Amino acid sequence: MNEKRIPLSKAQLEKIAEDYPTPFHLYDEKAIRENARQFYQAFSWVEGFKNHYAVKACPNPTILSILLEEKMGVDCSSLPELILSEKVGFRGENIVLTSNDTPAEEFIEAARLGAVINLDDIGHIELLEKSIAIPELISFRYNPGDARTGNVLIGLPLEAKYGVTRDQVVDAYRIMKNKGVKRFGLHTMVASNELENSYFIETARMLFELAVMVKEESGVEIELVNMGGGVGIPYRPEEKAVDLELISSGIKELYGQLIVPAGLHPLRIVFECGRLVTGPYGYLVSRVRHVAKKYKTYVGLDSCMANLMRPGIYGAYHHITVPGKEDLPADQLYDVTGSLCENSDKFAIDRRLPRIEPGDLIVIHDTGAHGYAMGFNYNAKLRSAELLLREGGTVQLIRRAETIDDYFATMRFPSAPLKV
Ligand SMILES: *Cc1c(COP(=O)(O)O)cnc(C)c1O
Repeated sequence: MNEKRIPLSKAQLEKIAEDYPTPFHLYDEKAIRENARQFYQAFSWVEGFKNHYAVKACPNPTILSILLEEKMGVDCSSLPELILSEKVGFRGENIVLTSNDTPAEEFIEAARLGAVINLDDIGHIELLEKSIAIPELISFRYNPGDARTGNVLIGLPLEAKYGVTRDQVVDAYRIMKNKGVKRFGLHTMVASNELENSYFIETARMLFELAVMVKEESGVEIELVNMGGGVGIPYRPEEKAVDLELISSGIKELYGQLIVPAGLHPLRIVFECGRLVTGPYGYLVSRVRHVAKKYKTYVGLDSCMANLMRPGIYGAYHHITVPGKEDLPADQLYDVTGSLCENSDKFAIDRRLPRIEPGDLIVIHDTGAHGYAMGFNYNAKLRSAELLLREGGTVQLIRRAETIDDYFATMRFPSAPLKV
């Protein structure tokens, strides 16, 4: 069980809404920092442990600078994410490029930054060579195929477009060694939003065994193992958070059994978690516009799928709190909807909640990762503001809401007839 609480009272949220009208995403700095420290504490036995925060989860410079202060690196999947990371102050191998279907300009920018390049395909070696000088360090993304089952969100590794295969992986390292690469990394990402502790221990086993095999078959000594992201969070109150201490001690045991005897110590272990790092510490705050009785009863919010896509596209559960009504009986059955002309624009279906009136505030939980970031402009919906609840209790605007002018900014109208 985890208690789904919000860090502010209804009165405090109403006060914030006076300055920043709903909807907005609100992130809890104190909780983000405390969680980051627990994550690092759990893996303190690993020399040079690091989490490279997946920028795509919450690409906000203030959030990223908090994570930089907490000693995190970044994982980037595009050119703008690389540039954003540099602007925030990330440097060198603190930055990882894990893109797929990669264009040359991402290799060029990553090389300029001194970032770790994590190659998604053996065929990319040719493009890499054409684009940049052979780097000192290279990493490969590994796809285990039918050796692993993946999970629902990410799908079967065998069907996934990512990574080099079992048959290719040793060759991939051999080729790069022959081209003069001196240092090597190994990466995988086989799960998404996975809550099963043993899954990550098994991923470590897979990577450790592979590192040993690569050494035996090609002489390449891998110095860096990247476990990817995909550590889940308990979106539902009845779910349990992963136990990082337990995962860490399981990995430590395997390290002693596999890595040390193979002469691969010290091996750096890193992660690329996004969701785990910020997911639970963000909230989408909205206001109820209408309560409409049709065949079902609909609570219509001033936000929509453009602010949070996960329920609409994955049927994902996001907990909902009605501030000020936390202690009332949840004796009503509602569909909580947005305003998009899409029937999938529902934040919750058949959700038991206390009686709701127009004007009520609604807080949707766990929007700190893959929330704002997945927003879009379909139906000419504008992206919301992002706010930060600072450690001292003040609230700071860390991204303004889009305006109608922003919506028009990229359009080119047919030119008006010339006046004579
Ligand atoms: C999306 C992604 C991550 C982060 O995933 P989370 O579920 O947010 O931890 C990490 N690495 C890669 C390569 C990704 O694509």
